[in-house]
Amino acid sequence: MIHQARKRFGQNFLSDPNIIRKIVDSIAPQAGQRMVEIGPGLAAMTDPLLERLGKMEVVEIDRDLIALLKERYSPDVLTIHEGDALKFDFGALGPDLRIVGNLPYNISTPILFHLADFADQVRDMTFMLQKEVVMRMVADPGSSEYGRLSVMLQYRFRMGRLFDVPPGAFRPAPKVMSSIVRLVPRPTESLEAKDDTLLRKIVTAAFGQRRKTLRNTLRDFIDEAGLSALGIDSGQRAERLSVADYIAITNACHAKRA
Ligand code: SAM
Repeated sequence: MIHQARKRFGQNFLSDPNIIRKIVDSIAPQAGQRMVEIGPGLAAMTDPLLERLGKMEVVEIDRDLIALLKERYSPDVLTIHEGDALKFDFGALGPDLRIVGNLPYNISTPILFHLADFADQVRDMTFMLQKEVVMRMVADPGSSEYGRLSVMLQYRFRMGRLFDVPPGAFRPAPKVMSSIVRLVPRPTESLEAKDDTLLRKIVTAAFGQRRKTLRNTLRDFIDEAGLSALGIDSGQRAERLSVADYIAITNACHAKRA
């Protein structure tokens, strides 16, 4: 059956066998590992992953694709979770989970934030995303790409951009360049926010108006004296602060409110 790619589900199917092999090699699946793929589509990656794993799980939203997957694989080999990955409870799949996927680009940021909530149960995650999003994920303080996504993901994960994938590797070809990124949860003990919701609020406020200084954007959370006690100049803008600075602000604010 021929499947017509659906734009609303961000469907660009991988079709270059060399690129598919390179991605699967970079994931390095081994039998016995617990793996879930987000958006298997026409199984371009699922198939070679299954060859090495023996069995795995997938989360797919498109009913037509689910029907194709059911025709092709027995339930002993492929467990199919039908539905929206944005609402999926990855924690229910058990510990030491490996998550992979050529993610639908139209939901890349919300899905990354959703997945960050499961960092404790995850061994690693390897994703294809728009290159521009990957550059934002791994950006260093001071760069124009550094923002809320960088801080919130770097708080939870060590991340590395592995390689780029050109539009010609997909059918239909997307308009943008893609990159493969690996995320490995990092131990939080050394750098832990006392309140993750507060951290998210502070980072959102700081970057919500990134041209303004911290003394303005963080007014509701901490005053100038508080910032200066942490060695942070309140005349700076959000992009100058490290992840550790945001955690220090969160913890100072938390201590004051407690
Ligand atoms: N993995 C396939 C490949 O590499 O050729 C397909 C990748 S395509 C970029 C994205 C896939 O994610 C499609 O199969 C699409 O139907 C699925 N998808 C889109 N939105 C989704 C969602 N919210 N939850 C689960 N799957 C989704």
